[in-house]
Amino acid sequence: MAIHGGSGTINRTEITPEEESAFRVGLEAALNAGYAVLKQGGSALDAVEQAVRSLEDNERFNAGKGAVFSASGRHELDASIMCGQTLNAGAVAGVTNVRNPISLARAVMEQSENVFLLGSGAEDFARDQKLPIEPDEYFFTELRYQQLAEAQQANKTQKTQLDHSKRNTGKGTVGAVALDQHGNLAAATSTGGLTNKKYGRVGDTPVIGAGTYANNETCAVSCTGYGEFFIRSVVAYDISCLMAYKGLSLKEACAYVVQDKLNVMGGEGGLIAVDRAGNVELPFNSEGMYRAWRNQMGQGEVAIFA
Ligand code: ASP
Repeated sequence: MAIHGGSGTINRTEITPEEESAFRVGLEAALNAGYAVLKQGGSALDAVEQAVRSLEDNERFNAGKGAVFSASGRHELDASIMCGQTLNAGAVAGVTNVRNPISLARAVMEQSENVFLLGSGAEDFARDQKLPIEPDEYFFTELRYQQLAEAQQANKTQKTQLDHSKRNTGKGTVGAVALDQHGNLAAATSTGGLTNKKYGRVGDTPVIGAGTYANNETCAVSCTGYGEFFIRSVVAYDISCLMAYKGLSLKEACAYVVQDKLNVMGGEGGLIAVDRAGNVELPFNSEGMYRAWRNQMGQGEVAIFA
């Protein structure tokens, strides 16, 4: 199993030792939540959902509680989940007030005839499914509010909004991938997107094939980074295709997509992936990526910097 808590300009000068240890504790807790499911013989799907829920409930990460603010001062949340055994998938975009968007994505997958629900319709579906709904205050954090103010101030003085080298970062998107004892793979990703996003902007996170993909024949992938590039590169599916059609190993496919293709385009970020044999890859081309993994022998690590 592997999890991530977002990529970006994360270096030792950016976060204090106290913050670093809080991030590590959060990652460890989420990994434990997912790993416990796998250890008890549970499904990869349950494991990734539990891990992502744990990160959504942790206000340090940009998903669920503690998500970044959009330009309208709200939290517009995106999430998706995919089952590698059935190729079933569920996704939601631009939902507000839903406590755990990943569980809503799973409900879309299992309780509706659809794959992708948007905005107020998705929120109605969440209510129908009796999923927990929270007031705006639940999602509020001072740090994210400051980041919105800074982004809005910078936009006033900047001519172009599309600075590809410096995305209006929402560092802290979360995701999980897992292989269970039955040989099934699953992937899940959840985010608040980018700080100060406007016009209903949606990134790669809820786009099946871009930010999230799982297929028992190949691998499970969850991405984080500058979403526009990840959509255009169809990153998660590309990795699976390189394995299926070209016979590349997970390691080769990940290296090619993240260090080669994305880099050439200028797309910053990373991903976590696990293949059907349980090999794990956590490549990124950004300064850092909050990440953790553990294999069936219990070996693994929690890491942040390059
Ligand atoms: N990929 C996310 C998005 O573009 C953001 C991130 O992973 O940091 O919405």
